[in-house]
Amino acid sequence: MDVLAGLNQQQLQAVTAEDKHVLVVAGAGSGKTKVLVSRAAWLINQAGVAPREIMAVTFTNKAAREMMDRLNLLAGVDCRYMWIGTFHALCARLLRIEGDQFRLGKTFVIYDDGDSKALIKKCLQELGVDTDDKRFSPAAVLGVISDAKNKLITAEEYAASAESQYERTMGRLFLLYQQRLTQNQAVDFDDLLGETVSLLRQNQQIRNKYRLRFRHILVDEYQDTNHSQYQFIKLLVGDEGHLLAVGDPDQSIYRWRGADIGNILDFAADYPDCREIKLTQNYRSTQNILSVANKVIANNKNRFPKDLFSQGEAGEKVFFHHAETDRDEAHFVIGAIADLQRQGVALADCAVLYRTHGQSRLFEEECAKYNLPYRVFGGMKFYERKEIKDTLAYLRLIENPADNEALQRIYNEPRRGIGKATWEKVNQLAASRQISAYRLLTEAADLPEQFNAAARNKLASLMSLLDSLRGFARENSSVAQLIKEVWQRSGYYRMVQEDKDAVERLDILEQLYDTASDFDQEYQETLPFLPMEDMEFATPLQGFLSRLALATDLDEQGMDGGYVALMTLHAAKGLEFPAVFLVGMEEGVLPHKRAVYSVEEGDMEEERRLCYVGMTRARRRLCLSAAARRLYWGNYEYNGISRFVKEIPQELLAKSGIADRRSVIESRAAHRPQPTGNLFAPRTTPMPAAKPAEKAAITVGDKVKHNKFGEGVVVAASGSGDDCQLSVAFPNMGIKKLMWKYAPLTKLTD
Ligand code: ATP
Ligand code: MG
Repeated sequence: MDVLAGLNQQQLQAVTAEDKHVLVVAGAGSGKTKVLVSRAAWLINQAGVAPREIMAVTFTNKAAREMMDRLNLLAGVDCRYMWIGTFHALCARLLRIEGDQFRLGKTFVIYDDGDSKALIKKCLQELGVDTDDKRFSPAAVLGVISDAKNKLITAEEYAASAESQYERTMGRLFLLYQQRLTQNQAVDFDDLLGETVSLLRQNQQIRNKYRLRFRHILVDEYQDTNHSQYQFIKLLVGDEGHLLAVGDPDQSIYRWRGADIGNILDFAADYPDCREIKLTQNYRSTQNILSVANKVIANNKNRFPKDLFSQGEAGEKVFFHHAETDRDEAHFVIGAIADLQRQGVALADCAVLYRTHGQSRLFEEECAKYNLPYRVFGGMKFYERKEIKDTLAYLRLIENPADNEALQRIYNEPRRGIGKATWEKVNQLAASRQISAYRLLTEAADLPEQFNAAARNKLASLMSLLDSLRGFARENSSVAQLIKEVWQRSGYYRMVQEDKDAVERLDILEQLYDTASDFDQEYQETLPFLPMEDMEFATPLQGFLSRLALATDLDEQGMDGGYVALMTLHAAKGLEFPAVFLVGMEEGVLPHKRAVYSVEEGDMEEERRLCYVGMTRARRRLCLSAAARRLYWGNYEYNGISRFVKEIPQELLAKSGIADRRSVIESRAAHRPQPTGNLFAPRTTPMPAAKPAEKAAITVGDKVKHNKFGEGVVVAASGSGDDCQLSVAFPNMGIKKLMWKYAPLTKLTD
């Protein structure tokens, strides 16, 4: 197949450029990612470049897989020899391959966000930091550490330059956290980049090896690279390499994570022999959608103006619906999706995009009411489930016994009678001898003064369990088999089977088992073909652990399942959907409260870019929506319509719902507004039958009526059945704690 077929003139120039470096700056949907893939195919098929000489950096693992598939299809490229992946995955690979030269060796473990926060919590305790102080919440501390790491500032450097009391405490935390990571032979996500950069900087031999190898480096979404990623690329390109970077400054949305828009703006200065190419034709969206997106982003002062045109049809008008409440908004949106489905639109072609994770709940509830399959991306990840984390802790210990955090997780899971006090003693002794907790277990039998006979027995049996599993792993290469052994020998499976939520939990275990079986098969198929130089794993178990540590929920399944995708704007970057519902278009939601109250203009501009990213995901239909009042911590907040909606020339919008805040009261009479524009056919789906107010089903967010206190909203619920206890916020009475079963409460269905 001709890899150049169908490309426009500008795209063609970028794909076939013979210049040393190429920068493609272009708006959303103009084919940047397509250029990147075609370039790789062209280099291999027509420029005589070997696949092994190309490294392509994508923004998600899913994008990496798609690129491999497309290369395979487009040019018959065998991608096993190419390095394609996210920054994190590529760095992890390099560190493993060069394990002999890396300070933590080949078998280091990768801590995900949850692991890192758990470790920070321990550090906070150890240093006696007041955790009620919000500045020292694990998330806040990790944020500061991550920020420093992205700038390639080490713990020592941070601590040495600390000036205020706050910074000194943070410095001590940073140092301790780093020390603990090293003891556990672990790296966090940011370390993957930081450690790779420092290895490349310090070790000339390794640097040269990769510079010689990767003659062509291709980077997608360059506008969102942070300093460490920028350095990684710079070090690899060197004097001889070729770089193709594509990006859109208007879509830079990771400033809060250290992304530096300057990297794209200064490209020509960094890489002097460069050719800059602009793409102006948008292939994704209708002209109406583009006009709206262009109008909004034009209000950012700090940008290079560029307008995109679409040669496609004008399409339907962009729709704006103003609902009375957040619940009404969700009801309207999901109802509209149900209508689209009945008109023949696939559910997988519809996406609901929102600013913050918390907004997903109402849409989930409405999907459930309409019986529409849906998937939330970026909520609780599959891999964050307790069952998965526990099993992985066993696997991590088998791989790397120094991993104290893993041992901490499972020393008594399932219960084996090792009490907290005993375990603390193990940790203390291990710390004082500067050995791992695992090592101490091997010695516990000889410490009768420290542990009584019963404790010694239990510690010994934990030890022999782990040893027997390590023995099994040495002799069997199947990860799936190993997982089964772990569950059986430890009694974990039995424990889950006996749990009251057994059905759901066993399902999770089964999914993990299937993931491992898939991995086993893939491993057997690729292993014999991998070139020696790319052998990153000594064992399949290492490969499996690495894969899972770097997985995100966006990677779990293709988007092509039959479900509506619910996701944040950040997660939607680079994707496209025929129908997009951009919800919560309100001041304080999008733009986010923080930006509304911020004095820094840059904060608002980043919100506007987010809005632009959201709008430009849409191919044929775009619906914006807002609610006049929104429940927030049990109280209604009244938000005005987002300034971004107001920035759209109103003749470009088809509107429905209430017009503005003043008419909220009037509109109450005309409950449940119907769409009137030309985007959706008049609703024909009957409203879902209201559920009878049975006492069994009540959740946070539900509205209730009390005989004495009047109407209120459930803000917390605990227990179930007869014991279900609710905290209900009543506008004039404050929050009351009530028993659902016995209080004179009825649920209001809206
Ligand atoms: P984003 O900024 O959102 O990442 P992008 O610039 O990377 O967008 P692509 O995702 O590469 O854009 O392309 C957008 C859509 O346009 C895709 O569906 C792609 O297949 C299509 N497309 C790109 N170029 C062409 C072309 N020359 N002919 C036909 N379709 C094209
Ligand atoms: Mg793209």
